[in-house]
Amino acid sequence: MKSTGKVTGIVSNLVTVLTDGPVSQNEICYIDCGGTRLMAEVIKVNGRNAAVQVFESTRGLKNGDPVEFEDRMLEVTLGPGLLSSCYDGLQNDLTTMTGVFLKRGEYTEPLDRSKLWDFTPIAGPGDKVVAADWLGEVKEGWLPHKIMVPFSFKGEYTVKSIVPAGQYNIDRTIAVLTDESGEDVDVTMTQKWPVKVAIKAYREKPRPSRIMETGVRVIDTLNPIAEGGTGFIPGPFGCGKTVLQHAIAKQGDAEVIVMAACGERANEVVEIFTEFPELIDPHTGRHLMERTTIICNTSNMPVAAREASVYTAMTICEYYRAMGLKVLLLADSTSRWAQALREMSNRMEELPGADAFPVDLSAIISNFYARAGMVVLNNGKTGSVTFIGTVSPAGGNLKEPVTESTKKAARCFYALEQNRADKKRYPAVNPIDSYSKYLEYPEIDEYLSEKVAPGWVGMVEKTKNIIRKGREAQEQINILGDDGVPMTYHEQFWKSELVDFIILQQDAFDPVDSVTPMDRQEYMLRLVLGICDRNFDFDDFEQCRKFFNEAINLLRQMNYSEFRSADFNSYQEQLNNLISNGK
Ligand code: ADP
Ligand code: MG
Repeated sequence: MKSTGKVTGIVSNLVTVLTDGPVSQNEICYIDCGGTRLMAEVIKVNGRNAAVQVFESTRGLKNGDPVEFEDRMLEVTLGPGLLSSCYDGLQNDLTTMTGVFLKRGEYTEPLDRSKLWDFTPIAGPGDKVVAADWLGEVKEGWLPHKIMVPFSFKGEYTVKSIVPAGQYNIDRTIAVLTDESGEDVDVTMTQKWPVKVAIKAYREKPRPSRIMETGVRVIDTLNPIAEGGTGFIPGPFGCGKTVLQHAIAKQGDAEVIVMAACGERANEVVEIFTEFPELIDPHTGRHLMERTTIICNTSNMPVAAREASVYTAMTICEYYRAMGLKVLLLADSTSRWAQALREMSNRMEELPGADAFPVDLSAIISNFYARAGMVVLNNGKTGSVTFIGTVSPAGGNLKEPVTESTKKAARCFYALEQNRADKKRYPAVNPIDSYSKYLEYPEIDEYLSEKVAPGWVGMVEKTKNIIRKGREAQEQINILGDDGVPMTYHEQFWKSELVDFIILQQDAFDPVDSVTPMDRQEYMLRLVLGICDRNFDFDDFEQCRKFFNEAINLLRQMNYSEFRSADFNSYQEQLNNLISNGK
């Protein structure tokens, strides 16, 4: 039943409403503000009083203005056409706008209702189906987009009829299903789902057991992220969070990419708009945008819309996962999302937690990260949502609540360091503090041993040790001076520099160096470890420095050359000569 109400109080975007009937938490309503319909969400109900958060500016709103409740939660429209779209947090299509901003009270259609899709049935009359089962398929770009039994359907249905292969739009009934009580329901190619409720359209959610390649060496080689895993990138402003995330988006081994640009500066969002459509997908040679959905909100958009955006993005990811696809969700930055949560909670005058964030910030973040994962669908196929978020802690303070809460929720941690960024050692991921908990999983160890090299995790540990020892040696050299330490300290320090320059550092803007496939990462790590394993017995530290500078120079040239090209091989030969001459 739909209720109505009247505005009784307004504090910025928080509006109190006296209702004439029952309303539920998170229900959507529209407030009539002098002819402009403003969308809002119920965030608190107390007797006949409801507090609603308006998604837009409440300028001009006054007491007594009428409110209509919708008897539904904030929903995402799901169907073919989501890919290559740019939406705001409320799924308004931003590509149809001239600018990034909509007029107040203006809401657009998320999906093109007139476009015809080439439909092929998968199910047939008489088939028994449940929610999320595949009824048919359309080609969205080059991806098979499954048309599924709506997720909200409960119990078993029998397919009564299904349309033959042909071209249909999203509103056309493509199947009629009969429920257990004998009633018929029409199914189209589109369905709606409440954004804040996870889509549980799968049989089980096992632990991740495969790696998702990103082409970024500090991630793949040192701290790999699992397919269906979670990771986060905290770092001060300007340290390269966005560049790193975009690199992962461009190269990551996923079929569908969803970018949630939440609450970052408006010009950054415009950059995504202009940059992404130009990008060519290294996996297919086609436009990356064909398999990407962008959800963006800038800081000047209303707080509730910003809060919604990450949920909208996650729901779209879960939808594609239910089709058996590998989905990658990137959110930049989740701190802006947390700030939106804070603004809302403060306006509600809730008892604040640390730094005035909501008391349940940790739980909200954990629940969100928990929606990622690899799943086994009802038909036995697998799908995954891998999630990487950035966090921008004020002043680079990693002890602040958002970073701390995220650390509990995410299994990979890629800490960007001001110090490395200042030295232009990009990507500025701190190799010592960062970690991937997936390396501790026996199934991941096994996977890497099989896919990359036997004993790979041991090689990774060894590499990390070289870096650690190098730091210790460097400290000693800094305290005691070049001549005050034994030669082995110099050698240790330079070995860690070798790892740093060749494995850790990677130029995100070089066509070759920016993407390193796993076989090449293995090759380079073996070369570097081969040098680190040797004892050179240098006469003095000048000789040591000279040797390593030359080695680093040659290996860098290799990083910039096509794998196993003539150039690559010739640098390798020079390196071999250098090593056999020793010093
Ligand atoms: P943040 O999002 O953390 O504020 P950005 O990702 O915008 O920072 O990065 C800031 C600048 O750092 C970039 O404009 C670029 O010049 C430089 N940078 C970051 N990562 C790299 C990289 N991998 N290679 C080269 N330059 C980089
Ligand atoms: Mg950024």
